[in-house]
Amino acid sequence: MPNLASWDRTEWDACVIGAGPAGSLAAARLAQRGRRTLLIDKAHFPRPKVCGGCLGSVGLSALGEAGLSLGTLSVAGSPLTSVSIHSGRRHAVLPLRQRQAIARETFDAALLAHARAAGAAVIEGGRAMVGAIEDNFRGVLIHDPHAGRASLRCRVVLIAAGLGASSLAPPDEAIPAIRRPGSRIGAGVTLDAPHGDYPPGRVVMASGRRGEGYVGVARLPDGRLDIAAAFAPDAVAQVGRSLGRLAHRVLESCGLPTPAGLAESDWSAVPTLTQRPARLGAERVLLIGDAAGYVEPFTGEGIGWALRSALEVEPIADRAIDAWRPQAVSDWQRRHHATIGRWQSRCRVVCDLVGGRYATPLVVGVLSAAPWFAAPVLRRIDPMPQTAG
Ligand SMILES: Cc1cc2nc3c(=O)[nH]c(=O)nc-3n(C[C@H](O)[C@H](O)[C@H](O)COP(=O)(O)OP(=O)(O)OC[C@H]3O[C@@H](n4cnc5c(N)ncnc54)[C@H](O)[C@@H]3O)c2cc1C
Repeated sequence: MPNLASWDRTEWDACVIGAGPAGSLAAARLAQRGRRTLLIDKAHFPRPKVCGGCLGSVGLSALGEAGLSLGTLSVAGSPLTSVSIHSGRRHAVLPLRQRQAIARETFDAALLAHARAAGAAVIEGGRAMVGAIEDNFRGVLIHDPHAGRASLRCRVVLIAAGLGASSLAPPDEAIPAIRRPGSRIGAGVTLDAPHGDYPPGRVVMASGRRGEGYVGVARLPDGRLDIAAAFAPDAVAQVGRSLGRLAHRVLESCGLPTPAGLAESDWSAVPTLTQRPARLGAERVLLIGDAAGYVEPFTGEGIGWALRSALEVEPIADRAIDAWRPQAVSDWQRRHHATIGRWQSRCRVVCDLVGGRYATPLVVGVLSAAPWFAAPVLRRIDPMPQTAG
């Protein structure tokens, strides 16, 4: 990265912190509107991301609305047509519609390239935080151990820096995170594992018998196995860093194959999954994507919600660039609640059922006897999206 000093005191209409799906799509949309937009990520792309790698209908249709598809982004996808949910020796197989397995490294890098092509300036490898208000600008501070620091002036800042990113909010307007008590911890790994045990097309979800949480396995288009989990904090405390052993134990308890090398694999973990910020913004700052609140994933919702939030925030951010109004934050909260918040509430109920210590064997038993019972539930958490008026 070039020396950050050359960026110092530059002025931007919009500065987007975090180039995951939410940040890259939001930056692309604002740049396409002719707004001077800067997208900053602390990572260099392609970068790994803890994720089950399932892109659902909410995400696919948000891409479509933005004039994009996996094809136009040159991202390989393989259709996922069923999910099998396991608890102990019981299991139920349910149909899935409109879901694709994708590798997050390539998907996120392609969206970042799209933002760049749309006209956004991009800084990779710079850690950003929100600074103070100065005249009609919000400050953003970027720091890189090798490239130095820069202080920017931005009409609007979008925080799209993932789970728990409300901590990046300005010191003068701190935004506390509200964590759901007992919320599970997200973790994941990708493994080179031969085809056979986990063929493409099916997501396998295994729920631990002793309340460990659940593990999802999907075959990515490039042949790797994506293994993602939501683990109970006390189960994580028992195994320490050996999350591979915990995943191994959960799969084994369901009689599922355990991929070679899983127990010894090096997992990445993310903070408490179910959390939301007390507010979705501050003066000249709006939160989007996971930063605006997240609930445990079922089989592919978070990317869709992140993309959707980029589309929904766009008109509010665009107006705010011309003239900031304090109501912008409450406007955004209402819109977020009416669209993404609605799906998240439904997803939370399903995850409680599927990942719960006591309810899961019962639920899996009911689903295996009467799979038709699941269809309306799955439809409710993965509907074709409706936008707020
Ligand atoms: C275990 C697990 C499994 C999941 N499985 C699925 C799934 O199968 N399907 C699905 O749709 N969703 C899934 N999700 C959720 C999904 O990964 C997220 O919802 C999605 O990535 C959110 O996108 P985002 O753009 O908001 O944030 P992110 O994708 O997290 O991107 C945030 C970006 O911000 C950058 N950043 C952070 N801090 C800073 C900073 N200070 N300065 C600059 N940059 C910064 C990071 O480097 C990162 O690139 C899963 C999540 C977990 C934890």
